[in-house]
Amino acid sequence: MNSKLIDYHIHPGYSVDAEGCIRDFVLRAIEMRLSSICFTTHVDLNHARKVWDLFMKMNGEYVRFDYDIMSYYIDDVKNNTEEFKDRIDIKCGVEISYGHHFEDLISDLLDSFDFDFVLGAVHCLDNVSITASKEAFGYFSGTSSRELCEKYYKSLYSLVDSGLFKTVAHIDCYKKYGLAYYGPGILEAHHGLLSPVLKLMGEKGVGFEINTSAIRKGHKEFYPSNQIIKEAFRFGVNLHSIGSDAHKPEQVGFMIEKAFDLASDIGFKIRRIDQ
Ligand SMILES: [Zn+2]
Ligand SMILES: [Zn+2]
Repeated sequence: MNSKLIDYHIHPGYSVDAEGCIRDFVLRAIEMRLSSICFTTHVDLNHARKVWDLFMKMNGEYVRFDYDIMSYYIDDVKNNTEEFKDRIDIKCGVEISYGHHFEDLISDLLDSFDFDFVLGAVHCLDNVSITASKEAFGYFSGTSSRELCEKYYKSLYSLVDSGLFKTVAHIDCYKKYGLAYYGPGILEAHHGLLSPVLKLMGEKGVGFEINTSAIRKGHKEFYPSNQIIKEAFRFGVNLHSIGSDAHKPEQVGFMIEKAFDLASDIGFKIRRIDQ
């Protein structure tokens, strides 16, 4: 077991866009010689969306999200934690989609469950998902890259300011499809918008993750890009985790070692935290 490698962003088949049972992800993580993993199934409580985000999958069936299925997911992870405890450390968490208008629902969820780790993510702007190909391109067609970034970083600022989260997921995820639509200008469109968010993160002790999945989408750099990781370091923002954003067992551990090397080259030590 390589003691330093972790993957703290894994979507098992409970997430509507993921496939595979908890056990298969665990076996893959052991094969990849990871020391610790965290499952982070998606939770989206934004009832203004009325689309499949509000669902989870249980045994391959779509079920509307409720606290019963969340308990079932947690129990499933815990059973595997126990079974594999001599081979790998397994944690149970969630990736929560953030929106200012349903902070109360997020707060209730976090009060109701004792997650090991929680990622807060901005996936939607104006209740449209900018990280789902079916929705993103339609949204981009009426929005300039600067407007997109203005709205994204405004929402991210609000996420950090809410006090609900200790860790921000994939900071510049709008580039996922934004690069194909807007071109390389999107990689610079955060200038002047990101710094206030990083400053607030540093002040509030909110950290970030390096998410390697950008490479699977054809990008040259991770989420966030190298320049943003360096800027985060300058602002004293902590790096809390590295994750593959795996949606299938074979994606677990994807480029994790490279991300560790990059982080340590920049000067980061990963400060793993609970929640
Ligand atoms: Zn996400
Ligand atoms: Zn994710």
